[in-house]
Amino acid sequence: MSGGDAGPPAAGRIRVGVAGAAGRMGQTVCAAVEDAPDLELAARADPALGVELADILGDVEVVVDFTVPATALENARACVRAGVHAVVGTTGWDPSQLAGETGGGKVFVAPNFAIGAVLMMQFAAQASRYMAKAEIIELHHDRKVDAPSGTAARTAALMDGDVPIHSVRLPGLVAHQEVILGDVGQTLTIRHDSTDRTSFMPGVLLAIRRVGSLEDSPVVGLEHLL
Ligand code: NAP
Repeated sequence: MSGGDAGPPAAGRIRVGVAGAAGRMGQTVCAAVEDAPDLELAARADPALGVELADILGDVEVVVDFTVPATALENARACVRAGVHAVVGTTGWDPSQLAGETGGGKVFVAPNFAIGAVLMMQFAAQASRYMAKAEIIELHHDRKVDAPSGTAARTAALMDGDVPIHSVRLPGLVAHQEVILGDVGQTLTIRHDSTDRTSFMPGVLLAIRRVGSLEDSPVVGLEHLL
């Protein structure tokens, strides 16, 4: 493997590189890719490893990006231009800025890769058609750099009306969200909790396997792959 861990190439497996490989999500993605029989962890990029994304683009077919908002757009552009597909979980950036980018690589972006969170967003969107008002409370660990969360922003965008978002950052949390809808004499609360980062891995692995066959790019939202 480039990026430090040399390993034998494996025919037929998708060669995956992870950007942000030393981060909380990146480490979890590396472990999930290593455990998947049809995928090969071919490279890791991260400032902490002294490996830049540009160093690994020649070695991989798909890059999974869990880095920081400031670099997500630039990373996705570099992938597209190198003909490498990108699966982006980094939040706090605008994927529409990739429109018109050419080069062969496809980009899939999900503000949340957990199936329960996707369902929460769909249920909230549906409920907002029938109830008078709604607000979102999103709660995350205190090292998260962006606020509001990408999941909350996406949920609000899918819902009817103006939906205020409240952000809570505390140690002990992973990723949680409540959508509270109110109407005359009643409230409805839809809540999702990711209690462990492994909750995102089935969605990430699905996206790695499917990104190369997307007809459009960028595609935003795990619901498009289900
Ligand atoms: P993290 O622990 O801070 O990890 C980010 C890593 O990326 C750090 O090691 C960072 O290095 C590295 N990095 C920064 N710039 C880079 C570059 N240009 N190339 C390669 N690596 C680079 O953060 P995290 O908790 O894993 O979260 C990462 C992102 O995923 C956040 O945007 C978060 O909101 C998002 N997230 C998304 C989902 C989802 O389901 N879509 C779920 C959870 C989290 P330095 O520390 O040296 O900067």
